[in-house]
Amino acid sequence: MHLRTLPLIAAAFAGAVFAQQSQDPDYAKLVKEWTTRPEFMTPLVDHLPKAAGVPSPKDVLGYYVGAPKKLTHVADLLRYYRALAAASKRVKILPAGQTDEGREQAVVVIADEETIRNLDTYKGYLARLADPRGLSDDQAKQIIGQAKPIYMFTGGLHSAETGPPEMLMELAYRLTVDESPLFDQIRRNVIVMLTPAAEPDGRDRYVDWYYRHKINEETEEDRVAGPPYWGKYIFHDNNRDINYSQVTMRNWLKFYLEWHPPIMHDLHESVPFLYTFSGQAPQNPTLDPILYSELPWFSNFEMTKLMGYGLPGVWTHAYVDMWSPGYLDFMSSNHNGMIRMYETFGNGGANTMKRNVAAPEGGGPPGAGMTTREWYRPMPPYKEVVWSMRNNTNYMETGVLSALEMASGFSKTILQNFYDKSRNSVESGKSEAPFGYVLPAGQRDMTRVAFIVNILRLQGIEVGRATAEVKLKEGTFPAGSLIVKRNQPYGRLAKILLEKQNFPDQNLRTYDDTGWTMGLMSQAQVEEIADKAVLDVRVQPVDTLSITGSVKGDGSLLAVLDNGANSLITLRYRMKNVKFEAIEQPFKAGDTELPAGSFLVAASPEARTEIEKLGLQAVALSAPPNVPKHVVDLPRLAVYSSWGNTQDVGWVRYALDHFEVGYDLIYKERVHKGNLRDSYDVIVIPNQGRGSAKSIVFDVESKGKPLAYTKTPEYPSLGMYGESDDITGGMGLPGVVELDKFVKDGGLLITLGGSSYFPAEYGITQTVDAARPTPQFYAPGPIVEAEILKPTHPIFYGYTQKILPVRYANGPLLRLPEQDRKKWVLARFPGTDKSVLSGLMKGVAETRERPAIVDVPVGQGRVLLFATNPCYRWQNLGEFNMLANSILHFNDFPKPTASPAATAE
Ligand SMILES: [Zn+2]
Repeated sequence: MHLRTLPLIAAAFAGAVFAQQSQDPDYAKLVKEWTTRPEFMTPLVDHLPKAAGVPSPKDVLGYYVGAPKKLTHVADLLRYYRALAAASKRVKILPAGQTDEGREQAVVVIADEETIRNLDTYKGYLARLADPRGLSDDQAKQIIGQAKPIYMFTGGLHSAETGPPEMLMELAYRLTVDESPLFDQIRRNVIVMLTPAAEPDGRDRYVDWYYRHKINEETEEDRVAGPPYWGKYIFHDNNRDINYSQVTMRNWLKFYLEWHPPIMHDLHESVPFLYTFSGQAPQNPTLDPILYSELPWFSNFEMTKLMGYGLPGVWTHAYVDMWSPGYLDFMSSNHNGMIRMYETFGNGGANTMKRNVAAPEGGGPPGAGMTTREWYRPMPPYKEVVWSMRNNTNYMETGVLSALEMASGFSKTILQNFYDKSRNSVESGKSEAPFGYVLPAGQRDMTRVAFIVNILRLQGIEVGRATAEVKLKEGTFPAGSLIVKRNQPYGRLAKILLEKQNFPDQNLRTYDDTGWTMGLMSQAQVEEIADKAVLDVRVQPVDTLSITGSVKGDGSLLAVLDNGANSLITLRYRMKNVKFEAIEQPFKAGDTELPAGSFLVAASPEARTEIEKLGLQAVALSAPPNVPKHVVDLPRLAVYSSWGNTQDVGWVRYALDHFEVGYDLIYKERVHKGNLRDSYDVIVIPNQGRGSAKSIVFDVESKGKPLAYTKTPEYPSLGMYGESDDITGGMGLPGVVELDKFVKDGGLLITLGGSSYFPAEYGITQTVDAARPTPQFYAPGPIVEAEILKPTHPIFYGYTQKILPVRYANGPLLRLPEQDRKKWVLARFPGTDKSVLSGLMKGVAETRERPAIVDVPVGQGRVLLFATNPCYRWQNLGEFNMLANSILHFNDFPKPTASPAATAE
């Protein structure tokens, strides 16, 4: 049955007669043509209504959504939505800040005229349900009676997934103008919100790249790599930015906490043909059970509708789980709403081409193998298909319209559940331990405590400062300690972020990290409190926590304590023209213990101001301490990036930029020029290349024509963060030779995580082997112990414990010959069950006594290999100072007494 017959039925019900809405005949003809098989079309999208004075995407852009070889830049997306909003009282555009690169972020709102007129009233209802403290169930019922749920779509978070931002324009138009009963019901009962593009910077860069390099692709074999960058720093990890480091992602969170959409639905592209998320195991047990019934409730309705339309290849289950809270739209589940997600099949552009979907022998890429018939996939995707952008639009748009049909039919249930989940979160904090968390005042480094507190605040979690000493069963904590009580709307989220992650079943797999415990990641003290008395501790609310440093006493010389603050390196870089020394042994100045690594700098107003601003502690001395010390020179620093795997490099760039460390970002082009030692003292190779040294060396495959990443008037978003006339080919063996020379000529090469395969496998460190774990080993990002073996090495300045919590990086299993082990292994993994502190490591014994960090001399230089990754996303700031120290003290590593080969041991 075609929908266009429905208005007549509605008219009959209403007892009135209205004319059938006129339709766009060209649209109907063209989308039919672009849809590659008749069964890929549905009655929801095979026609497009016309409305006098209201522009369709075609009216503004000149092409229909889903047209072959058409992708839309951000400015044009916004231009369309503005035209739509200007023409209809059913549409409004809300500002949502500016991206990392300064593009506009906005949210488009669509509902009936009354709702749009009174949007702030509806916003107020949702805010009241989101924080139901002081509300009786009866009062809540009254609010629910008047409120409407916001259903918010995000599309284009992943820039290569090009369909959603196109589809959303057509959806917005349809929702605005279609007068049939279904649409009337949606507009009346639901407030639809959508992002033109969730990652606007990446959208523009990808669209530029598509028009430059991908628009002539005709077959799967023609397909070339995507652009080196999406967002300013990171790629698909914008969907893993658990601490909202990126400005763009932080803006969406702020928007969420202002509007409280009970549902956020993220539109991705990957597996065939349409997967709708239903929240499979492992499920985070702290989230409300109601959520886990809502997810399949929706996905099963969509399955039912889409199967009914005859769409093959629609499925749910057996793909993405509910463990990690770090995905962008998880912000809704984290705040008592509901995350929803689709994966629709896409071609990485708008070209129609034949795709092989069946799994090759032995597995294949993600998505392969999803063509089998299963109980949750009764009509599987075809093994081979000619796929088009319009197919993608048809599937996704029919899916989201079905979801909106469901949401508009059960809007009160959604609101009731939203209220129940919010209330349950408050109530569970009063009845279930832990009742709270204490971050004690007086920790050596309070800047990392502030980091945790400020992330919690960003997430909307209330944190208080104790007005007096706190006595609990867990201990006595000083006045000023930071208190997180669980009896608050986001108390469950606080628990999820701060607790140890107990992965429920070693045999389950998960899509992302299993461990993220903030106290361990930051190496700051966070006490879990089972004493209910914590709920009654008197506190003053904390808005943001800023730590002001201090300088004690008077004297010509300042000793800046190395208490492990990440801002110590910032101080050094802010005062880069001033002489700094570091003491190599602890020293007692009066009653202040100066740890090894503490800086000595001449007292000056500038130094005092910066120390205070950066939250550091210093004491004034009249004379330098009588212990060994060295000058803290700043190296000429380079960070090496391949063109094909810039994401983890991006996290290192982000951290270095954040802490104001100066560096050059270099690529194969600079390496090929040679003479690296003339330009640099230290080269860092961040984790990249998916754990393979070969992929670092040979990088992006060449398909015969150069792939230029350069800025031109036509492609202004390309050529940022580096330029290349051809990103393919990698550094190759000549590049390896240059890096080898750099080390032998006295440079320090630092490799992080998977990049540590590189010096081992290409023989730069001839005595270090790098093995891989067995296929039975499974360690999706747990936090494990590393034991420091050389505590006096400068990279451990500021660390006091012998055992550190480190994020396991899936890095190499390093091995050194017996006689070298004692000399060059700085830290190792105990590799016992109890050394897994949070999350899952299956097969932990494979890491037993394997080196975690190795510092090995090569020629005149050094190679520092981290099997860990001390700069993992924006999370493990407790580990970051090992990298910071290796930069600050690059030329003061302990001297090799003799080369190991020459030593008879
Ligand atoms: Zn995606």
